Amino acid sequence: MVHTGKHFLQIPGPTNVPDRVLRAMDMPTIDHRGPEFAQLGLDVLEGCKAVFRTKNPVVIYPSSGTGAWEAAIVNTLSPGDKVLMAETGHFATLWKGLAEKFKLEVDFLPGDWRRGAQPAEIEARLVADREHRIKAVMVVHNETSTGVTSRIHEIRKAIDRAKHPALLLVDTISSLASIEYEHDAWGVDVTVSCSQKGLMLPPGLGFNAVSEKALLAAKANQTSRSYWDWHEILQQNKNGSWPYTPATNLLYGLKEAIDMLMEEGLDNVFARHLKLAAATRAAVRAWNLEILCQDPEEYSPILTAVVMPAGHDADYFREVVLKNYDMSLGAGLSKVKGKVFRIGHLGHFNELMLMGTLSGVEMALDLASVPHRAGGVLAAMEVLKGKDAIPLSARRSAVA
Ligand code: PLP
Repeated sequence: MVHTGKHFLQIPGPTNVPDRVLRAMDMPTIDHRGPEFAQLGLDVLEGCKAVFRTKNPVVIYPSSGTGAWEAAIVNTLSPGDKVLMAETGHFATLWKGLAEKFKLEVDFLPGDWRRGAQPAEIEARLVADREHRIKAVMVVHNETSTGVTSRIHEIRKAIDRAKHPALLLVDTISSLASIEYEHDAWGVDVTVSCSQKGLMLPPGLGFNAVSEKALLAAKANQTSRSYWDWHEILQQNKNGSWPYTPATNLLYGLKEAIDMLMEEGLDNVFARHLKLAAATRAAVRAWNLEILCQDPEEYSPILTAVVMPAGHDADYFREVVLKNYDMSLGAGLSKVKGKVFRIGHLGHFNELMLMGTLSGVEMALDLASVPHRAGGVLAAMEVLKGKDAIPLSARRSAVA
């Protein structure tokens, strides 16, 4: 089937890349040891601090998010170290698998993939760890496979209440620059992220924002590492360069994306995502379908995972959407494959794009004969018109 107009990329990342970012990357690749590049390097390194909300350095890798996970581990932890993780979904499970490959001993708090990491459970485990064998608490902020956002600030407070010295490592791969996040104020030691979601860039950049405590842990850590080693990268970053060839053109894009985020204002970016998410959930409820996330406090502002009625295959439904309306929705991953589909509502995205997205879903529910009520799009419109929009202040947790 020939499709006209723009493809709707409504997976929860990679996200739509703004024309401004595409144009910024459409440049000749320059000498990465020359003065023009050095200025670009310094600019993006500084700009990243504002996005992660940190005064400390942010390390940028030419990598996907998985590389940035690995970097966080090999810099701060050694084989045999015990770590505490929470089974929030597919990505937390993958991170655990990676940790085990590096011979970390993982205490994996079980979860049903419908809730976030529980601060009270983390606190209990840390209090019980009187010998301080747990070296790090590792949590996924926004579990992209389920549409559940864990309360990182609450987890920080739980670690503090337990008076435990463990590092806090947080995956913000699908939350950075779209869900409220404070690297410094929430006392996070390593924030892991990447380019292809809230930052509105193509895949290819990985990030580690690092605290002073994490830098000290890295200094003391004898584990072999080379490509991912923060130390040498941070040394060279002082002059706007890297120990190896950086992803020059993605960095042009990063500079433009940071400019766009700052022009909108990060708090407005977060509020926009909250509103679009509230409208999406209103549509799902009006369709009489179930949202996978069970705790309203943990609803993800960047994606909504929708449970398919029993006897209906979510992947078949996604095929109907793609074939008829040229829209890609997120698949259910591993344990929830075929059982849920995911609507991404993040990044370079607005009300009318959401209306197109929800219209495509509603029409396809009919075409695929999925039992539902009509009226989801209308319910979403009511939210977008402002009546039921959730103000950011209602969700903003006190930073102090
Ligand atoms: N963590 C989360 C929460 C993710 O959503 C993803 C990818 O979607 C990853 C980790 C892995 O990132 P990447 O595919 O860029 O390696």
